[in-house]
Amino acid sequence: MELDKMDENDWKYHGEGNKSLVVSHVQHSRVLRLLKYPSEDAENTRQTTEQAFQHILNIVEYSRNVMKPLLGEKYVHSGEVVKIPLDFVRQLSLKIQQERPELRCDKVMDTFSGCGLCLPNLTHLSPCHFGERRPPLCVEIKPKCGFLPFSRHVTKDCKRKVCRFCMHQHFKLANGKWNRLSRYCPLDLFSGSKQRMYVAIKNLLEEPQNNLKIFKGGELIYSCKDDAKQQPDLNELVQHLWPYFHHGNSHQFSRTVLSEFIQLICSALLSTGDSNRSGDSNRSGEQRKVQLAESRVLCEASPFHRDLLRNCGPGLPKDCVLAKILQTQMMDNLDIEGLYPLYKRVEQYLEEFPKERNRLQMDGPYDASFLEKVKTCPAEDDCSIEYAARKVLQYRVAMTAKDCSIMITFAPCGEDEKLQPHLEIQPTKSRLAFSVSILDLDPKPYESIPHQYKLDTKIINYYLKSTQELP
Ligand code: ATP
Ligand code: MG
Ligand code: ZN
Ligand code: MG
Repeated sequence: MELDKMDENDWKYHGEGNKSLVVSHVQHSRVLRLLKYPSEDAENTRQTTEQAFQHILNIVEYSRNVMKPLLGEKYVHSGEVVKIPLDFVRQLSLKIQQERPELRCDKVMDTFSGCGLCLPNLTHLSPCHFGERRPPLCVEIKPKCGFLPFSRHVTKDCKRKVCRFCMHQHFKLANGKWNRLSRYCPLDLFSGSKQRMYVAIKNLLEEPQNNLKIFKGGELIYSCKDDAKQQPDLNELVQHLWPYFHHGNSHQFSRTVLSEFIQLICSALLSTGDSNRSGDSNRSGEQRKVQLAESRVLCEASPFHRDLLRNCGPGLPKDCVLAKILQTQMMDNLDIEGLYPLYKRVEQYLEEFPKERNRLQMDGPYDASFLEKVKTCPAEDDCSIEYAARKVLQYRVAMTAKDCSIMITFAPCGEDEKLQPHLEIQPTKSRLAFSVSILDLDPKPYESIPHQYKLDTKIINYYLKSTQELP
């Protein structure tokens, strides 16, 4: 890929989130991630090339120097900042406009800075599917926060019983963000119990919202519909999936295919990359480390029957992707209610000593010393500015982990292809290789903390109001 000879016809629309828009190369296994801006203030907030370059460089450094060591080398691909011709981005923007989902069009793609982030296309699986007829399958899950706050600063009792995602659902429904409640509960997904994880993934399939997407051969084949009233068609998905699972004309054909697919996702989420990984037999001793106290793993809003929860499951294997994400999320151990006063302490201090902002690394640089600050924070508040500043950094890192996505890519391998043992997964007769990555690891701004504090109150008040009104 030569950056000075970029042609918009080599790229196509791939997807987008709230902060960025992604295009994929039609031949090489690469994507380009471009920033987005609110359309009404695109003129005012537009950054100069240098500012934009620095902004994207910050994203790369934060991912590489902070999130990667915390989440595990093997899961994170940080990419590189690239300068791209303005002509190319303008043409590209015109070309893809009609493919963008309506609910995302409140923002416009950055066509003025000439900078972007180049990443491997994680919906492909590089070496293995070579020569295979069936294209790779990729499941993207945005799991959200997988634990109940355990901080003594939490004031509302419901926060200890119902998880943030489940409470937020009611708020989003009321605000018209979605038309139906999702039955997905992150606490089920992070439980490590195959039974609960199965239910969590099934609920994601039934109501994907922005928490689940499925790609085949790099193309999006399953996600929430642009017309939010419509539900995505599971039968259509089964039509895509069945060739990957060798089955005869079972009378429960589609249920079997979906069930095997869900089990495959579970195994990948629990795998640790060791040769003896996903079986239940090795989940003892060291492997059980990420077991939370029982009170923290039950969400009362989860559709999962409480009786079945008595046996909470074995916990997560230590190095699996879910354990890594959960441990990082749990750096938020004060909850926003305990963190907000510390944020104010920092704010007050910085008003007096603005030059200290750099030394405390409140917005970077994201280097080894930032990571050190995040990893070594005194357990007790000694009333110092150091303590407050470090807790704020930890909170920001936890926020990133609560907002990231997991990509699981499967590809069938021919009978004669030799695989490294840890790359193979075999819950069914077919041979599938897989790889797991984590994406969307942007730094969450220091300035967004007051917003988080207000949002927390709004969500809880709304949840209490809406659930207490029920007979
Ligand atoms: P959010 O609103 O969740 O914060 P965002 O604006 O930060 O999202 P991303 O999540 O990074 O943007 O990217 C948007 C979408 O593009 C992802 O959900 C994913 O489907 C796709 N995507 C991003 N990076 C890659 C990649 N390296 N390979 C394949 N697909 C990708
Ligand atoms: Mg995202
Ligand atoms: Zn829940
Ligand atoms: Mg993001």
